[in-house]
Amino acid sequence: MIHDVVIVGSGPAGYTAAIYAARAQLSPLVLAGSVTAGGALMNTTEVENYPGFIEGIMGPALMNQMQEQAERFGAEIRYEDVTALELQGEIKRLTTEEGTYEARTVIISTGSEYRHLGLEGEERLAGHGVSYCATCDGFFFKDQNIVVVGGGDSAMEEATFLTRFGKSVTVVHRRDELRASAVMAQRAKDDPKISFAWNSRVVELHGEDSLTGVTLEDTVTGERRLLEATGLFVAIGQIPRSELVADALDLDEAGYIRVEAPSQRTRIPGVFACGDVADPTYQQAITAAGSGCRAALDAEHYLADLQA
Ligand code: NAP
Repeated sequence: MIHDVVIVGSGPAGYTAAIYAARAQLSPLVLAGSVTAGGALMNTTEVENYPGFIEGIMGPALMNQMQEQAERFGAEIRYEDVTALELQGEIKRLTTEEGTYEARTVIISTGSEYRHLGLEGEERLAGHGVSYCATCDGFFFKDQNIVVVGGGDSAMEEATFLTRFGKSVTVVHRRDELRASAVMAQRAKDDPKISFAWNSRVVELHGEDSLTGVTLEDTVTGERRLLEATGLFVAIGQIPRSELVADALDLDEAGYIRVEAPSQRTRIPGVFACGDVADPTYQQAITAAGSGCRAALDAEHYLADLQA
């Protein structure tokens, strides 16, 4: 069987592409991933800025609704990880642990993953004090001293969420000004449980079996100090998950898939990219959804041209 549309990835971009492709009678297959299905919003709490939800909506609930909406129109979802892609030629091939799929068009919406600090001991202590997801792990840090690294919306969201559990939450940011949006920054600044270590970097992690503290370095004076903490949440942005297509498609210097704006076309005919993996700039759920819509419309036009 040759599918008209196969979508790789299942965040707001992938599911929106699936909704549009399904409504265009293209019976899309979504290879949603075995662990990461639903994408980054599965690890968030309340999403307050997705239009249409006056009171906000929990990230996982939003993703479940998008998935069900796509299925309602005939999209098929499979929880498989794509391990190899052959994108050249009219018929593309996608390999998972379960088998090989053939498709006339492929939409890549593989999102992004957490950026790591790159410190010695970070991998060893991951899951033993070091975490990248407050909603996943915050509960384990009841009445403990917690450090959050980063100055963006993610760091503010994590810090605010972690005040439910921690004795203290210290945000460590490398500058003296936050990158986060005004409303999220203010919420964190107003929270009595949150304090800020400005102009600071985490340069060392302490602890053998689990984290006991971090060394901070002042980015202005170079002075170092020890901060005792048993939890470290790293929220310093994402890196695009484009490794599967790194050899086949054009990527920018940061690894984002280049598309022919305003379309979501990549340099290979019949291959489209959308969502965070193709967006170095906005990275919002709503912009991901919008680009998923565009990718599906682009795929529909491409298929129509094939038949003409
Ligand atoms: P981000 O906006 O790129 O912010 C990353 C932060 O980490 C920046 O403050 C940056 O510092 C810092 N940083 C980067 N590399 C670092 C390093 N090696 N060491 C120390 N600090 C480092 O990433 P994000 O907060 O994950 O947000 C990503 C996107 O998702 C944004 O567009 C954001 O608006 C969106 N988002 C939205 C919501 C929401 O609206 N509810 C929630 C979460 C995320 P500098 O500031 O010095 O560069």
